[in-house]
Amino acid sequence: MAEAGSFADRVKQQADIVRVIGEYVRLKKSGQNFTGLCPFHGEKTPSFAVHPVKQIFHCFGCGKGGDVFSFVMEMEKCPFPDAVKVVAEKCGIPVPRQKERTPEERKENQQRAALIEIHREAQAFFVRQLESTAEGRAARAYLEDRGLNAETIARFGIGYAPSGGDVLLRQLKPKYAEKLLVESGVISRDQSGARLFDRFRRRITFPIANESGKIVAFGCRALGDDLPKYLNSPETPIYSKSNVLYHMDRAKEPIRRQDFAILVEGYMDAIAVARAGIGNVVASCGTSLAEPQIKLLGRFTKRVIVNYDPDVAGQAATERSLTLLLEHDFEVRVLALPAIGDLSGQAGKKADPDLFIREKGAEAYIKLLKDAPPYVDYLIARARQMDLSTGEGKQRALNFLMPYVQRIPNRLLRSEWATRIAQQLRIDEPVLRAALNKSATERRGEVKVSPQLVGKPAKQIERRLIRMLAEAEGFKKELAQRLQHGRLYEGLETEKVFAALIVAGLSDEPIPATEIGAQLDERERRVFFEILFEDAQEPTWEEAESCLDALRRRQIEQELAKVQKTIEANPSGAGLRELLERKQELMKQLTAAGQPG
Ligand SMILES: [Zn+2]
Repeated sequence: MAEAGSFADRVKQQADIVRVIGEYVRLKKSGQNFTGLCPFHGEKTPSFAVHPVKQIFHCFGCGKGGDVFSFVMEMEKCPFPDAVKVVAEKCGIPVPRQKERTPEERKENQQRAALIEIHREAQAFFVRQLESTAEGRAARAYLEDRGLNAETIARFGIGYAPSGGDVLLRQLKPKYAEKLLVESGVISRDQSGARLFDRFRRRITFPIANESGKIVAFGCRALGDDLPKYLNSPETPIYSKSNVLYHMDRAKEPIRRQDFAILVEGYMDAIAVARAGIGNVVASCGTSLAEPQIKLLGRFTKRVIVNYDPDVAGQAATERSLTLLLEHDFEVRVLALPAIGDLSGQAGKKADPDLFIREKGAEAYIKLLKDAPPYVDYLIARARQMDLSTGEGKQRALNFLMPYVQRIPNRLLRSEWATRIAQQLRIDEPVLRAALNKSATERRGEVKVSPQLVGKPAKQIERRLIRMLAEAEGFKKELAQRLQHGRLYEGLETEKVFAALIVAGLSDEPIPATEIGAQLDERERRVFFEILFEDAQEPTWEEAESCLDALRRRQIEQELAKVQKTIEANPSGAGLRELLERKQELMKQLTAAGQPG
């Protein structure tokens, strides 16, 4: 919990929960709240709500909820201090140096900072090489040949790694320990371990930034016929291939705005598409998409157009990526670019996005992008390329399609598929459906919410009183006193929520809802947050009094029932007289408490 006056407390005061969560979830204004699809459980209709005034979030589906820090902790799977830092950074609040860090953590942080600094220096070095050396000129000519002008080169930070073998090393060596240089991945050690050298030589360099725009790796293309054609940074403490999408740092805003992303294979493709004026493009920088990359993308959109290379490897990559994207509930379309006929009229060459845009222009690309078919059509088209003249061939085509069908969570969609596959592949529909149903039962189930975790709906009067205790600045103290004095909340379903709110209400300090929530059990916290998110009218003291009356009546009725039961259980027992007197008294009180209005 954020202690008053602490850094966490200050961050919480300044942070806007809608903005922070908005970086992970697409939020729409809905009444006084914001709603979106819950990032913690799979869902198609939004049950996730954010309250801008109370600075809390709550999911009516899976029940997760809390403040901005608990959201980030859950989302980033990180401990509280890290969540505070993340939120502070997102809100531009300077983070004070942490004194209480463990020595290992401090060392790790220093190492990461130094690795980023090495990349910054290497980047400046590569850019200088491209600009001002003879070798760099040859590289520039190559880039120009690929249609990349000076403006694009500058915009994407493209540089050149010279052939010398130790030019960069000589520059970095005076400043950094050898071990650190090797760890950065820009410098390599030979097999004997004795000699260091530049990892990238005679290559065009493309800086790869993490989501927040810090360069953490390089992707490099050979200038001549050197092999391998592409050479990238190795995995390092600041770079993991499967966690990074090329161009994500710049694409995230356009992706969020347009609510879809274009996924391409390489950085040249991403650059070509971005240059065509389509900013919402990212590259997986490898032939297939990894799960962390999909999760990263999923924070900004759930709609994607996959435009991988049309070769066999690209097709396989498309299909592998499709499987993963569908599992993560993405809406996927596939753009398979047509072959480009060459001048001699021979069979066309297959085009990746870079080549296609260079040859056919941005407009032609944008048009195809708009018409990109849903993945279903793409896959059926692929299946139709198989030999369907024999039973075996049809079986193969079906086996190809089935894994995708298995991953469609929606029953209606699966059924639609069945009809289309049957028509297109000329397969007997009932046979196909039988196979489908069998595979559907084997597929991974949707996330189910366990019923005992969902808070029981509290009664209307309780809900109103809870809301008033939390919000009615004018009389919540008075209300807390009355509830406390008469013990009116005891025995209610929401007794513990009341108890926490009464303590808060009697306090002279304002206590935010998140802090009250933190004192409650998970189930009670849910009920509490749900009530806070309900649309409700401004409460009045008159209404509060009528709610109190109702609770009082309930209390009397309950005692009356208990007395009556005791009398009936032992009509000739001792103390009958007292019991009858008590009964009389309670009846009188009940009349005085009035009838429910
Ligand atoms: Zn949820």
